[in-house]
Amino acid sequence: MELLQIQNVKKVYTTKLGLTQCVALKNISFTVQEGEFMAIMGASGSGKTTLLNIIASLDRPTAGQIFLNGTPFSSVRDRDLAKFRRENLGFVFQEFNLLDTFSIRDNILLPLVLSQVPVKEMEARLQPVAKMLDITTLLDKFPYEVSGGEKQRAAVARAVITDPQILLADEPTGALDSRSSVELLQNFARLNREVGRTILMVTHSAKAASRASRVLFIKDGEVFHQIYKASMTDEEMYTKISDTLTVLATGGESLE
Ligand code: ADP
Ligand code: MG
Repeated sequence: MELLQIQNVKKVYTTKLGLTQCVALKNISFTVQEGEFMAIMGASGSGKTTLLNIIASLDRPTAGQIFLNGTPFSSVRDRDLAKFRRENLGFVFQEFNLLDTFSIRDNILLPLVLSQVPVKEMEARLQPVAKMLDITTLLDKFPYEVSGGEKQRAAVARAVITDPQILLADEPTGALDSRSSVELLQNFARLNREVGRTILMVTHSAKAASRASRVLFIKDGEVFHQIYKASMTDEEMYTKISDTLTVLATGGESLE
């Protein structure tokens, strides 16, 4: 089933005085099926974060449309956006964005508190999520008492505890050491495989992207190429991604 449709999305940033404009996204179209694990790659400044923020409804496109389960984002009023986001989308940032004065448990439960979910149900939802992300023993600790990898797993727990339709992650392994990165990606792969969670992940790492079922390459605000993993192994996928990154880096023409 088509879960997300991005249609001719364009984003132009204008400076406060309106003197200069930056075209971050020229014209982006693609669809995401329910249950896909999609990686988004591209050089720094190619528009990845802009695209993810628009899909996260944190920002509005200058032109074009986004549909989630057929509902156009443009039909959601500004004052209903926070609720829409909380009910439909989960977001993981590079820098974790946990609240330091909240325990790991309270950080994870925060979106449920905001949605006024009964306390009993909160605990029932927390246990399986904490177990899957292997943070059950850390729940009473504070963010400054746990490692970067553990913080990010807590951030993933916070993002999925509301059972969002899509999990969005902007360079989620960007601040992690290589071992924690591998662990986090295993968690993403499990969430996708075992719970059927739809994931959109921006990453610089060909290794991280090789775990995904599809990789979308962006260049100068446009879709440059896509690779479907299908029956490829992680290693074969890694080689294909690396080859495409080389073409991208050497300024190759579109591979589409
Ligand atoms: P990426 O995440 O791929 O590195 P971004 O989406 O952050 O790229 O940025 C794409 C382009 O848009 C860049 O040229 C960047 O400088 C510009 N840009 C991003 N955010 C803003 C903003 N808030 N105001 C003006 N320009 C921006
Ligand atoms: Mg970025």
